[in-house]
Parts: sequence; structure tokens; C-alpha cells
Amino acid sequence: MNGGYMNSILRIDLSKSKISEEKPVEDWAVKYIGGRGWGARKVWEEVGVEVNPLGPDNLIFFGSGPLTGLLVPSAGKMSIVSISPATGIYADSSVGGAFGAELKQAGYDAFTLKGVSKKPVYIMIDDGDVEIRDAKEYWGLGALTTEERLKKDLGDNDVHVLSIGPAGENLVKFACMTSDYGRNAGRTGMGAIMGSKRVKAIVVRGFKDIPIADVDKFMDIAYESYRTISENEFLDIWQRQGTLQVIEWANERGVLPTRNFQETSFEQAEEIGGDKMEEVKTTDRACFACPMTCGNYCVIKEGDTKVVVEGPEYETAAMLGSACGITDLKTVIRANNLCDDLGIDTISSGNLIGLLMEAYEKGIINKEDTGGIELKFGNGEALLKVLGMIARREGIGDIIAGGVKAVTERWKDTKPLAMQTKGLEQSAYDTRASPGMALAYATCDVGAHHSRAWVISKDLEMQDKWTAEDRARLVIYHQHIRPLFDCLGVCRLEWIELSLDESIYADFYTTVTGIKTTLKELLERSEAIYNLTRAINVVRGISRADDYPPERVFCDPVPSGPLKGKLLQREEYDELLDTYYRLRGWNDKGIPTKETLTRLGLEDVSLSLEKNGKI
Ligand code: SF4
Repeated sequence: MNGGYMNSILRIDLSKSKISEEKPVEDWAVKYIGGRGWGARKVWEEVGVEVNPLGPDNLIFFGSGPLTGLLVPSAGKMSIVSISPATGIYADSSVGGAFGAELKQAGYDAFTLKGVSKKPVYIMIDDGDVEIRDAKEYWGLGALTTEERLKKDLGDNDVHVLSIGPAGENLVKFACMTSDYGRNAGRTGMGAIMGSKRVKAIVVRGFKDIPIADVDKFMDIAYESYRTISENEFLDIWQRQGTLQVIEWANERGVLPTRNFQETSFEQAEEIGGDKMEEVKTTDRACFACPMTCGNYCVIKEGDTKVVVEGPEYETAAMLGSACGITDLKTVIRANNLCDDLGIDTISSGNLIGLLMEAYEKGIINKEDTGGIELKFGNGEALLKVLGMIARREGIGDIIAGGVKAVTERWKDTKPLAMQTKGLEQSAYDTRASPGMALAYATCDVGAHHSRAWVISKDLEMQDKWTAEDRARLVIYHQHIRPLFDCLGVCRLEWIELSLDESIYADFYTTVTGIKTTLKELLERSEAIYNLTRAINVVRGISRADDYPPERVFCDPVPSGPLKGKLLQREEYDELLDTYYRLRGWNDKGIPTKETLTRLGLEDVSLSLEKNGKI
């Protein structure tokens, strides 16, 4: 086996309490790299189309990449892959911290969970020994409290824990998993899948070395990359404010979601932005081997107690802040802390509560629906209360817990106000002036998430100077390079924000694994994985109609701010989508053609789509 891999995948069948190990398929290192790539292949092979995402036959894959756990900038990432209970399609979410690195040191590249345990359990992965243990005493606890209690009970503060809160136990469709006190696998409802399997937490501890094919060359590249990062002029602001600095950036450009995306500039943006956060920040926080330390520990007082949170980062502050009309950072921090402990995604939570605040103000819902809560924009106490109700599935919280599909089904008049694609609540950029970003959200394989392609900055800069082809090409490039980091098991922020040359990752891969490669080849593999996840979605019914942004971006012009009057034109978007499909080698329904799948080495996927009558 090549360097960088531990050559073992754990399989845990919870219905049978059976633990086994398998070797990764021989050519997976080359074809699917690791992390997200391996997970996508597992889901393709092992999860049937009719499987209920919250039933015993759904599988969750947890996988590091070949660079995870090594001296590579920010090499602590692990991908979690499955079929989402929120969208019913392919889903992945990556988690930072150090869990993925520890998993490798424990002797495993990845593990899968299938089946359903009869009683609440946690999994202990201890340097090659694996046990399914009783978790009765932890069931019902918050995700952060669970981590604290497990470490105390195990007498080891250095283990790494991935846990769910009450939201995961109660199958909230946007429940997340939390690790290292606030590093979350936030999107697509992975916490609900873990809850459906009655797994409260996974604990990992390991001491093994990770093999490297060419240590001397590897150390040279590592030294060079850390040196380059340390000399970058933007490192300081990233260490001080992390992504929260983006609040001011988005507000100045008029793309900050405000009051459920009705507006795009927030009059009190500076109150929830990076400068304000520095007033309550106590220290930096970093994931494994990360010199960028974008995490911020913030501490505020609430009566006699302290609220300590890692964050908020940009998406959280925008969605629990401006999108809900919240004007003070302390409320955002309290909401962030609550979401982490309850185990719910901050983006989906803020998106849905903002949607219902607009519905309340427009008279679509009333106090009878909310249980007496004055669910108006800016009402911080209402925000905090509803978060708890979602996790416990109480009152209106029970409907919100079903995600945007359930909310728009229950109150049909909320449909035109809902900011979502494919059933995933949109994250925090308004796209009315950015057709490229609208395309990025709409064609993202997990739904309206910013993680795959972030082209808004360039799009706003180029505006009319750009053709549909320019936009589509950049979206496609991002959809290959950004998920590549998830396959390798590293954070992408050094590449995005500190301009670390992307070809260095091909050099890392070559020296670590011993498989000689180039960035171009890695991007081709990432393209194949993107086509594989599209195929997973196609067999689940996704087609062209699902690749459109929400109605609001076509119908409601931006009412004020620097982009006043901007609106996306439907014909322009149609042309953009056609161009995107053409460049990808997909037909006009958005289905990869036989030629494309064959070119990418996915002949078996092509055959399967043919059998399904899709191509
Ligand atoms: S840049 Fe931030 S998210 Fe990325 S690895 Fe470092 S601390 Fe973690």
C-alpha cells in the first residue's frame, strides 16, 4: 500500500454489533484519492436508491485523506458522507479539529456505520481496538457536554470525540456532529443519521505512525509551505478575525443576507462583525497542524455564568445575525453556543428562523402557530427559544425540525420566500448580482451550499465584462479544486485566502503516497468524483429543474444598498446553465453523458445509468 494510507477501513454493523475490517480497493488511492472520494464511491456501491436516509440500510462513511494527520498545513480534515435526510440525495460534510488525524494514528483511513443499535451506544476506537459501548448515561446530553463527560469518564483529555446533541437524537433534519468543542460537520443532517443509528458519540485515540513514501522531499515541501504562509501579508487578519471579517466585506458589497435575504445590506453589520468580535475574543484556535488559526474563542457573561464558544464564523454570524435581523454579537454568540450544544447546523437554523420571521411579519403565520412567540426580526430571545424548541421538537420547533421542505409544505405561502435549492437551506451570500454564485449554489451536489464553489468576489468584480462561459468555467474549476481538498484531507483556506500555490498539494500527494501525479491529474480525478456524485443524485431523481436558484432572486429586486435594483434574469440563467452543462459534458437535462463518464473512467456508472433509463 502507498504511503499516506493506513490500509484499513473499519466496518461497524450496529444491528449485529459486528465490527470488521476491510482493505481499501486497490485502485481507490489513485481513482478516488480518499475522504469525500472514497465516501462517494461507498455510497454509490452500497446505498440503494430506495433506502430511507434515517433507516438501518443507510450508511455513513467517515474518512480522512492521504495527507490527513501529517505535517501539511491544516491537515486535520475528515469527510462524512451519506444520503441526506434533508434532501434525499448525496451529502457530505467535512469536519476539522483533529479527529481525522487521530483516526489515522489509530490505524484506520476510514470507517462506516450501518444498521441500528438496539440501545444508545458510543464507539471507542482505541489504537487498533474497537468496541461498541453503552451510552445510556450520555443520551440526552448536549454535544459539548457529552464530549466533556466522555473525556472525564475515560480519564483522558487527549482523546478526540465526535458527538451529537439532542437534535441528532430527535432526528432533526439539519442536526450536525460536533468535535473538539465546536468543530462541526454542520450541513446536510449527518447528526440525524447518527441519531437514527443510536450512536451518541465516537471516541478515537491513536499512537501509530503514518507512512510517508519520501520523507526528505516531504519535509522540504512542508518547510516551504509553512514558510510561505508565515510571510503572507493577510495572515495577521486571518489569525485575528478568521472568517468573521467577511461580514464587513459582504456588507460593503451588498451581498450580506439581511432579514431573510429581503435586503442585502445590514445597517448594524459592524455590531456582528470581526472588529466587534475581537472585543470578546480570548484566544486563537487551530485545527491540526494549522498555522492560520482561524478559530476564535469568545467568552461572554450571561448572569453569573460564562458562555464560551469557538466562533462565530462568517456563515454563522450572517445567518443567526443579519438574516434574522439580530443586531448584537452577544446574542449571536449565545445562539452559536446553543446550536453547538444542541447539535444543529447554524446555517440551516438561521435560514429557517429568518424565513419564519418574514412569514410572521407578513401574516403568513401568527402567534397561534408560534405558541405565543413574537417571532419578529431582531427578537433575540425568540431566536434562542426557537433553537431549543427545534432540537426538542416542541411546538413550531417540530415543524422546523423537518427542514425547509417541511416548513414550505406546512405553510405553502412561505414557498416563494424560502432560500433553498434541492431542499438544503442556502448559506450566506445573496446572488441577485452574481449569476456565477447563483449557479454555484444551484449546481452544488449537496444543495445550496457555498463549500463547492465560491465565485462571488470575481463575479462582482467582472459583472458585464464576463460571458456565460467565463462564469461557468470558474464554477466548474472551483467544483473540482475545492472538493479535492476534502479528498486529500486538508483545509482549503490557505489556498483560498493566503494564495498558497495549489500545485504544492500535488507535490505533497506524490511525496507522501509515492504515486507520481500532477495537479491536472488530481483535478481530473476530482472531476470524476463530481460526476459520480451527480450520478448518485440523478438516480434519485435530480434533473435540470433542481439546478435553479430560489424564486426570490428572479422576482424581488435588491431594495437598497450598492446593488439596488439588481435581479437575476431567467433567460440569462438558462443560458448559463446550458453553458455549464455543455462544458461539463452533461446533456440538457443535466445528466452526464456516456462519453463523459467513459472519459472519466466511470464505465460502470454509465452502464448503471443506462440500465436505469437515465441515458
Ligand atoms: S484555517 Fe481554520 S478551519 Fe482551516 S484548518 Fe485552520 S483553523 Fe481549521
